[in-house]
Amino acid sequence: MAKPLIAIVGRPNVGKSTLFNKLVGQRISIVEDTPGVTRDRIYFECEWRNKKVMLVDTGGIEPHSDDAILSQMRRQAQLAIEAADVIVLVVDIQSGVTANDQDVAAMLLKSGKPVVLCVNKSDRLGAPSPEFYEFYNLGLGDPIAVSSTHGHGTGDLLDACFEYIDFEKTDGYDEEYVKVAVIGKPNVGKSSLINRIAGEERVIVSDVAGTTRDATDTVIENRFGKYVFIDTAGIRRKSRVEEQIERYSVLRAYMAVDRSQVCVIMIDATVGFTEQDSKVAGYAHEQGKGCIIAVNKWDAVEKDGKTMQEFRKRLENDFSFMAYAPFIFISAKTGQRLEKLFELINYVNEQNAMRISTGRLNDLLSYATARVQPPTDKGKRLKIYYCTQASTRPPAFVFFCNKKELFHFSYQRYLENQIRETFGLEGTPIKIIVRERG
Ligand code: GDP
Ligand code: GDP
Repeated sequence: MAKPLIAIVGRPNVGKSTLFNKLVGQRISIVEDTPGVTRDRIYFECEWRNKKVMLVDTGGIEPHSDDAILSQMRRQAQLAIEAADVIVLVVDIQSGVTANDQDVAAMLLKSGKPVVLCVNKSDRLGAPSPEFYEFYNLGLGDPIAVSSTHGHGTGDLLDACFEYIDFEKTDGYDEEYVKVAVIGKPNVGKSSLINRIAGEERVIVSDVAGTTRDATDTVIENRFGKYVFIDTAGIRRKSRVEEQIERYSVLRAYMAVDRSQVCVIMIDATVGFTEQDSKVAGYAHEQGKGCIIAVNKWDAVEKDGKTMQEFRKRLENDFSFMAYAPFIFISAKTGQRLEKLFELINYVNEQNAMRISTGRLNDLLSYATARVQPPTDKGKRLKIYYCTQASTRPPAFVFFCNKKELFHFSYQRYLENQIRETFGLEGTPIKIIVRERG
């Protein structure tokens, strides 16, 4: 299930980054880095009172002129309105209420989205100063006094945000539906694919990037099963600020990934792999989703007997961080291998939910440790006592051992490979958790 999103907006210099960092430093477990993947740091997981939310950084504002600041603030606020469940508007008690604050507050208010007003730089503890009450004029309810540098008030701020979030909320689909996120660069053919398999032209397809309108779920029932396709194509918007578009489309892709069980990572056969492809694929990997790499527009590639093999080789290198993901060469235009794609979606979905009995895991463990001895350090050898599967989606395995430090990454890798060789788990990341047992 997608985690609720909290977006932080406000003028330059009010302390947004400081607040963000304070929250990150205190309570945020940053999603671990995957080697070979560069990712925009725009999305942070935050746990507070045992519940998880995502904090989103809607991007900085470059102070050129007052007009430029205002237009960028509006764009930032628009992004927050469309993406977030709750918006935190940060203002500065030292500068008081400014015209730009008023403008953006009015815009947020009109959107109907819940807004929490953070009066930052309230460094002094005790009764609020008269300046604090000025902020009631923004019409956003009770302001919350926060000092991002010291950390006061950040808990109150999160509490206020959490009041607006319904953590029980689901997207309303029965469990039998497989949720599939189709992700990839603009123009790779995401809407074409969904249209083709939906059998009707539901979204407008065009050669011009940024013309599809709404991100709508497409529900499909066919002989392979029941599916919800989450399209991320419709969220591009025309804007002169390229960086914002990029941020926006990446953010929406992340959200689609969160909601999904299986991600179809689309690559344009006529373009090949790009850096942007690895960003979103890396996120799908980190979030433990079932992953398929679909090379689209295969019809448009001139082929000889070796073309597919060569393509595959290059992509295996580009996607070496997710070597488990199967490839499929498709054409949304001609329909080539789309039936096979459904079979693959079902397969990868099952693998992602696979449960392996403790007995079988421990049989494997004794076999694997006999075959390749666990590492030693300064005469002390790693002992692995026991292994069990802790959860699914993705399959996570806990290994209990004598000393964590001895359980080197390379040996974890070896065990992961052994597990994959024995049980398959094709198309799904797996997690290895190491615990010490005295
Ligand atoms: P942003 O442009 O909104 O991201 O603002 P920054 O986080 O970069 O902060 C702008 C300036 O305000 C920096 O010099 C911060 O050290 C300072 N600042 C941020 N939060 C606080 C605070 O709670 N109290 C005080 N006194 N200064 C702060
Ligand atoms: P999106 O931005 O990822 O949703 O991409 P679109 O579905 O809008 O497709 C972008 C362009 O690529 C359109 O002109 C499509 O007709 C074209 N296209 C999509 N899939 C294929 C395909 O399999 N083969 C060929 N030749 N063109 C395709």
